[in-house]
Amino acid sequence: MSKMDSVVTEKYTLDTKFKFRCHKGIKCFTHCCSNIEILLTPYDVVRLKKRLGMTSGEFLGKYSYVKTDEKSSHPHAILKMNDDQERKCPFVTDEGCTVYTDRPANCRYYPVGQGTLKKDGKDGPVEEEFYFFIKEPHCYGFHEKQEWTIESWRKDQEVDLYDRVNRDWKGLQLRKNLIGQPELDPQKQTQFYMASYDLDKFREFIFNSNFLNIFDIDDETVGKIKTDDVELIHFGVRYIKYVMMIEETLKLKQDSGKYRKDK
Ligand code: SF4
Ligand code: SF4
Repeated sequence: MSKMDSVVTEKYTLDTKFKFRCHKGIKCFTHCCSNIEILLTPYDVVRLKKRLGMTSGEFLGKYSYVKTDEKSSHPHAILKMNDDQERKCPFVTDEGCTVYTDRPANCRYYPVGQGTLKKDGKDGPVEEEFYFFIKEPHCYGFHEKQEWTIESWRKDQEVDLYDRVNRDWKGLQLRKNLIGQPELDPQKQTQFYMASYDLDKFREFIFNSNFLNIFDIDDETVGKIKTDDVELIHFGVRYIKYVMMIEETLKLKQDSGKYRKDK
């Protein structure tokens, strides 16, 4: 089963207890690192490209493929398994994960999954976060005695930082549940993918095109996104919301008209 399409049968909260231990001596060690579909988040790509000394484009070209979500038509980057019978993750060896401290958010959460539901609250729609367990037959970790709450597991796996950086982007994902959500045309899909994942290309687009002549972006933001990938992830979400016409997250400059045809 993939790490991204697990069926949720029961919903749990942060204080839910469970027993689990994953360690080098366990007989299933690394068995979970093959033949899986791991959806990458923007921050996963930032961490992994830095770890591997690559640009975002190089990383995505070598280690990912694009899968378009059926409901939302959002293009997602998926970690590419090796192209052989075992379909192992390119980063796994007998010694474990070679990018462990920069592994993707989904690998950190495992065997816990996280979901979000939009439901009606008294002041409008509210988001409800919930958790579930991914119990796969090959995983013996649940037979171990170490006890966790979902909260202590999250802390141990350092997922808070990933969630914090990816939060707004994940909010965009939620839109696939909205009825009447229009499909993205190919041009918008390209923009969505670039501003989500291919951040080096996005930065080049901002600084080497008429982008800053067209959009009124304050100097502080311009300074930050020039060098800081996390800031660029947040700005990317603003840009996607603008492109998808979800929110007027960007303002046009008064004289933008003369540049727009060149954009
Ligand atoms: S990135 Fe690391 S933890 Fe994740 S599937 Fe690959 S080897 Fe396993
Ligand atoms: S299958 Fe479960 S216990 Fe075994 S290495 Fe993977 S996560 Fe750890």
